[in-house]
Amino acid sequence: QKKNAHEPEFLQATHEVLESLEPLINSNPAYEKNGILERLVEPERAIMFRVPWVDDAGKVQVNRGFRVQFSSAIGVYKGGLRFHPSVYLGIIKFLGFEQIFKNSLTGTPIGGGKGGCDFDPKGKSDGEVMRFCQSFMTELYRHIGPEVDIPAGDIGVGGREIGYLYGQYKRITGRYEGVLTGKGLTFGGSLGRTEATGYGLIYLVNEMIAAKGKSFEGAKVVISGSGNVATYAAEKAMAYGAKVLAMSDSNGYVYDPEGIKLDVVKQIKEVERKRIKEYAERVPSAAYHEGCREIWTIPCDIALPCATQNELDEMGAKELIKNGCYAVGEGANMPTTLEATKLFLENKILFAPGKAANAGGVAVSALESSQNSMRMSWSFEEVDAQLKNIMINIYKNISSAAAEFNAEDNFVTGANIAGFKKVADAMLAQGIV
Ligand code: NDP
Repeated sequence: QKKNAHEPEFLQATHEVLESLEPLINSNPAYEKNGILERLVEPERAIMFRVPWVDDAGKVQVNRGFRVQFSSAIGVYKGGLRFHPSVYLGIIKFLGFEQIFKNSLTGTPIGGGKGGCDFDPKGKSDGEVMRFCQSFMTELYRHIGPEVDIPAGDIGVGGREIGYLYGQYKRITGRYEGVLTGKGLTFGGSLGRTEATGYGLIYLVNEMIAAKGKSFEGAKVVISGSGNVATYAAEKAMAYGAKVLAMSDSNGYVYDPEGIKLDVVKQIKEVERKRIKEYAERVPSAAYHEGCREIWTIPCDIALPCATQNELDEMGAKELIKNGCYAVGEGANMPTTLEATKLFLENKILFAPGKAANAGGVAVSALESSQNSMRMSWSFEEVDAQLKNIMINIYKNISSAAAEFNAEDNFVTGANIAGFKKVADAMLAQGIV
């Protein structure tokens, strides 16, 4: 605790995991004797570096870059890169720690890592983003590789950024290989990767609610965010018959009682790179509200926080519960505070934690790596079918782990135990390293 006191998000993530692992640790003395937990909370390696670049005005800018290689117990390090002004070591550590268990839950052999930079892509020209990405990769390339560490996207890192990063990696190393995932379809990307996290979230939540006789058909859904995860969660929820009432960005949210029109959102966010506020200016039935916290006051059946960490707090949870929301699925990483999570569990709200619910993205990233190694491209339908299967299996594993430890329907406990066990057993087998 003391060592990481200045990293509240990392403490929050480790607290949640360690608390729910207690019954498993108590029944397996080998874990304690071999210092599994003590080793697991310490990254194998954390790299921090200077990222100098020149802006359009000719001025030198300097950002701070990170790559935390957290655990290679079950495979090469794998996890996204985040470009956002709030990025510091504690954010990357919390994300890297969560990634270990998430990757384990996918059933594919990948270890946990995460990286990023305090760079803000918002308002930057394409040329500035490219020069920044080239500088970032000029340091990062020596620490990654298809048999070492395979980064991907996250907040602020989409197709454009991955393209620039990949171009620079290839230029420096002279190698054309699967070192990044989320690549463009013309240079080794996988069909279905863009949709994977959002679609995967809906596949998993669908399993969770179906077990209680519920479905997305006719359900009212509130989704925070309007980035990659939020957009494709909305698309699949609508395909399953739900009405999505609201979406947001970091400035505010739009509420459309007639149901969000996703083509308008995609045009604004993906094509024009503008703010969600524009939606209300183009769609007469919608209203824009400044600030994002109030989004959870909109009555709904299912809430899907898909923006960022700690965006759904105790107040939001109380509003959702009061208004009859019966299921919450975390599309983002740790969007729900510990207090809010506790409230959901106490009130028997079905709650799918991010490390299980948003694992579809990294699962399809692993499929992209497999296609790169085989020099093959699978069809969208094939990738999507594998994704669905993976999400259904994750639900089965987390619900049976919860039941095994007398925590029926507590998917937080289920996900932590199921994700941890494989990693811990691999660590035991590999000795004290
Ligand atoms: P994007 O950058 O595409 O979108 C992020 C969205 O969240 C934007 O609408 C953004 O608004 C909003 N947002 C970001 N920061 C804040 C904030 N501080 N307060 C309110 N809203 C905010 O990112 P992704 O969709 O890729 O990622 C969203 C979440 O999902 C993250 O937690 C990420 O770690 C997680 N995730 C992503 C995966 C992926 O495959 N992409 C995989 C697994 C998890 P604005 O435009 O104003 O910044």
